[in-house]
Amino acid sequence: KLIVFEGCEGGGKTTQIQQTEQWLRDQLGSSVPAILTTKEPGGTALGRSLRNILLDSRLEEPIAPTAELLLFACDRAQHVETFLKPHLKQGAIILCDRFTDSTIAYQGFGRGLDKNLIKQLNQIATVGLESDLTLWFDIEIEKGLARTQSRGKMDRMEKADLAFHQRVNQGFCELADQAGDRIIRIDANLSLQQVSLQIQTILTQYLLK
Ligand code: C5P
Ligand code: MG
Repeated sequence: KLIVFEGCEGGGKTTQIQQTEQWLRDQLGSSVPAILTTKEPGGTALGRSLRNILLDSRLEEPIAPTAELLLFACDRAQHVETFLKPHLKQGAIILCDRFTDSTIAYQGFGRGLDKNLIKQLNQIATVGLESDLTLWFDIEIEKGLARTQSRGKMDRMEKADLAFHQRVNQGFCELADQAGDRIIRIDANLSLQQVSLQIQTILTQYLLK
């Protein structure tokens, strides 16, 4: 099963993925299947190099929106083919920090690139692989950005202006509206513990019942 964690900056996805991985291990015991955690960009060696480029806030020139789009797609193609597909085939449960919806939200809604072209590009990069379940961390933009600021060094994407992040958030809202059951909203404004509880309730219904 492929379970994706999506949403704007500072929603706590990374922390919650780690906790969810541990919680799932406790629930499932030492029985099969493998539980793996990964992320985009940066789930492979090639992806980590691309991530360094994409998030570098001191590049000598701005990255053109289409170039940015293709770099994310490149990361995804490598991730799907060399990591996600082989492990899913063996029955793994994979928790993935960001996937195709991020590209529609960030490069489509955020950068203003053609959303239908992005969908086609996602299709090429994933060879049709879709998440089984996507948890959308819905966080108030200002709150999320304040969290990333308090961590110190902000990356190139986090440094984008407020209007950009608002468009991205609007993108996630619209995607969640259209997606039906595939995307489930998590209220990420709540405390760490309350967010964990929401995730555990959803995954209990989805995986463990
Ligand atoms: O670790 P995090 O998920 O925050 O790092 C990935 C960064 O890349 C995010 O800040 C997000 O802004 C950006 N991103 C993007 N388009 C994607 C995926 C991620 O702009 N398709
Ligand atoms: Mg970030």
